[in-house]
Amino acid sequence: MEAFEAVQHYFNMAADELELEDDLRPLLALPEREITVQIPVQMDDDRLVSLIGYRVQHNRARGPMKGGLRYHHEVDLDETRSLASLMTWKTAVVNIPFGGAKGGVAVDSRAISKREKERITRKFVDEVHELIGPDKDIPAPDMGTDHEVMAWFVNQYNKYAGFNPAVVTGKPVEHYGIPGREEATGRGVGILTIKALGRIGRKPAKSTIAIQGFGNVGSHAAKFLSEAECKVVAISDLSGGYYNPNGIDILQAARYSREHGFSLAGYPEAETVTNHQLLELDVTVLIPAALGGVITCENVDRIKAKLIVEAANSPVRPDADKVLTERGIPILPDILANAGGVTVSYFEWAQNRQFYQWNLNRVRGELDHMLSTAFEQVWDLAVERHVSLRTAAFMVGIDRVARAMRLAGQA
Ligand code: GLU
Repeated sequence: MEAFEAVQHYFNMAADELELEDDLRPLLALPEREITVQIPVQMDDDRLVSLIGYRVQHNRARGPMKGGLRYHHEVDLDETRSLASLMTWKTAVVNIPFGGAKGGVAVDSRAISKREKERITRKFVDEVHELIGPDKDIPAPDMGTDHEVMAWFVNQYNKYAGFNPAVVTGKPVEHYGIPGREEATGRGVGILTIKALGRIGRKPAKSTIAIQGFGNVGSHAAKFLSEAECKVVAISDLSGGYYNPNGIDILQAARYSREHGFSLAGYPEAETVTNHQLLELDVTVLIPAALGGVITCENVDRIKAKLIVEAANSPVRPDADKVLTERGIPILPDILANAGGVTVSYFEWAQNRQFYQWNLNRVRGELDHMLSTAFEQVWDLAVERHVSLRTAAFMVGIDRVARAMRLAGQA
C-alpha cells in the first residue's frame, strides 16, 4: 500500500464510523492543490543539477495551510501528499486554526554542503513564493531541514513580499523564532506517553522505553521521559541501536553524540543491537521516532511493547496496525503523538503577528494544555465508540474539518 493510500484507508475507517456523506469524502480526502517545481542548482563543484521540489496544499477549511518542508532522497509526490493530508488531521485534532500542507525536495540532505542547501532553499522559495504566505501556507522544518533553512527561507521570501517573519515557523529563536520550538515535538511525545501510561495503569518509574531515532524528536522525547523517571533502555540512530537494561543516561548519550559528529557510533555504556532488533525488545513503550513504515506485517508478530507511540509520521503500516489493534496494543497515532511541533509552530506564528516575544514557561504551559485536551478527547472517544485511538483521532479531526466546510458554505 502506497503512503497516501494508507492515509486514505484510515480516513475511510473514521469516515464510516462518523457516517460521513459520500459526496463530502473526496472533498475532504483529496488535496486542494499540488505543485511540482524544478530546482536547478549550481553545486559547489560547478555542476548544474536539476532537483524536483513539491508542495502539496491539502485543505484550508480551518485556516492557512501548515506543514513542514522535507529534504530527503525518498521524497516524492505520493509521500508529500500523504504527509500533507496527515497535517490537515493533525492541526484539527489539536484544534489549532490551520489546514494542512507539506513540501519537500528530493535530495540527500547529508550529501550536500551548507551553501548548496542554502541555494536549494532560495530557489525553492523563488518557485513557490506566490502560493505561500502567513495567511496562505506556512512551511516549517521537517526531516533534513532546520532553523537555519527557515532563516534563509524568510530572507528569500521577504525579497518578494516585504518583512514577514510569520511565513515560516521553526526559525532561530534570536531571529523571530520562539523558545521551545525545537524541543516541542519530542516534548509533546513525552507528555502524551506519560498520559497514555496512566490510562493503561502503568507507573512511569516502572516503565521501560525503547526509542528508534535520536534526532530532534527522539532525543527530546528521551530526555523528557527520563526526567519523568521512566527507564529509557534503548536508543538508536543511523549507526545502530544501543541497549542497556539498567537504563541509559540520556544527557550523557546526547553529549556523546554531539561530540562525535551527531553519531552514537561507539557509545560505550550499552550493548549494540540493530535498528530492527530495537523494535522487538521486551519494553513497556516502543517509540519509533525516525522513518515511516518500520513496523510491518514482517515484524509485527515479534513486537512485545505494551504501548506504541508514533513520534515519526506513519511508522506503522496499515496491515501491522490491524494486527496490533486486534492484539489490544494501544497505538498513539502520529496525528496526535507528534502534534507538539505544529502546536508550538502555531504559538510562533501568533507571536510573530503580535510582535510580542513569548517566554519558555508560557510555551510549555500552553503546549501541555493543548495536547492534554486533545489526548483526553481522543482517548475518551476511542473508549466510548470501541474504536482504535487512530480511528478516534481521525474522527475528531475529520469532524472538525467537515464542520468548518459546512459552516463556510463550502459543503
Ligand atoms: N514537520 C512537523 C510536522 O510534521 C512540523 C510542522 C509545522 O510545524 O508546521 O508536524
